[in-house]
Amino acid sequence: MDNKMYFKRKIYDKLVEWKKNSDGKTALLIEGARRIGKSTIVELFAKNEYENYLIIDFNIAPNEIKDLFINERSDIDLILQKLQSFYGKVLPVRKSLIIFDEVQFCPEARSMIKYLVADGRYDYLETGSLISIKKNVENILIPSEERKINMYPLDFEEFLWTLNDNATIPFLRDCYINKKKVDIAHKRIMKDFRTYILVGGMPQAIAEYINTKSFDRVDEIKRNILSLYHDDINKHEHVIFDLDDGSELRYMDTRKFGKMYLIKKEDINKIGPLVKLGLEPWDDNLTSEYLLDKYKKKKLPIKSVLLDQNIIVGIGNIYADEILFLSKINPLKKCNLITKEEAENIIKYTKKVLEAAIEKGGTTIRTYSSVDGVHGLFQNELFVHGKDKNNCPICNTKIEKIKVGGRGTYYCPKCQTLQ
Ligand SMILES: [Zn+2]
Repeated sequence: MDNKMYFKRKIYDKLVEWKKNSDGKTALLIEGARRIGKSTIVELFAKNEYENYLIIDFNIAPNEIKDLFINERSDIDLILQKLQSFYGKVLPVRKSLIIFDEVQFCPEARSMIKYLVADGRYDYLETGSLISIKKNVENILIPSEERKINMYPLDFEEFLWTLNDNATIPFLRDCYINKKKVDIAHKRIMKDFRTYILVGGMPQAIAEYINTKSFDRVDEIKRNILSLYHDDINKHEHVIFDLDDGSELRYMDTRKFGKMYLIKKEDINKIGPLVKLGLEPWDDNLTSEYLLDKYKKKKLPIKSVLLDQNIIVGIGNIYADEILFLSKINPLKKCNLITKEEAENIIKYTKKVLEAAIEKGGTTIRTYSSVDGVHGLFQNELFVHGKDKNNCPICNTKIEKIKVGGRGTYYCPKCQTLQ
């Protein structure tokens, strides 16, 4: 876009300062929401302060470029050569800037910064949004060579600069410091301030305002930016609750296993999945009689039935294996053949295993009911789950792994015989 407006931004001076002070020893990451003008200011900085530069926009970069940072990491010469030929630029050593734009789309490139900075041939600038959210930093060693500054939309002073007003803020400062009256200028400044509140600090919205003076058009642009933000965040976010104190409760579900129901308070025990939930492990009604009654109609393997939340709640795949191991029950045993003694063991060890698990879960679940003062048998230690490389801690037989109902299942073939 050739008709792009370049607004004067305060952050520019910080970039110049970084270039001077760092002298190639660090990379700089500019973090801030999308569309606040990061790429624009960075490009302007590159044009003005370097002989040449190269921008990789990871939002649109082809896979062959991203692939360099994933599969060619050991060969910096190759990476730098390919980048220059792909973007058709020749970068003079120590006089050029390489920009990783929207680096959150390629965490591998960000993790290469350490080596690129050490290589020393070029300066590196990164821009990114949502850079600290988990999926963008997972498995990434944040390079200590990276300095970070935050960028925001235009503030009121920057907004006035776009209207070619360089005098108002120094004047206001002077009034403030010397306790002078703003007087006759007050009305005009308040009008500009209200305009700023309406237009906001997004460069695209300000450019539209300058060109058209139409608040409708400005509003449309801001709506588009908002929906872009929603798309960025919304991928796994399905429900957002606006709470009374202004904060938000967000329901994120990457695997879409969850369900949500909107029901009246009085219907909570009549409608929805809670109605069908089984007993808590610590419920007094959880007895061997209760279990045997539930088990007698089914012929499924006990492992699968333990995972059925309509009988006992809270037993997941890992803990089912541990419970069966401690109860000395083969995971494939049909549940209608479970004896009274076995059912009692299941109840006993369900409590022990889950108590230990909750204990391990730390302070966030510590307030959960009925775990006070109870310490699990094995704290963080699992006996069988995931231990198919190990031997049984009781009889030293090799732990086996099988599939039961599609779930990975571990057990000791000697301690947990099928009879
Ligand atoms: Zn064993």
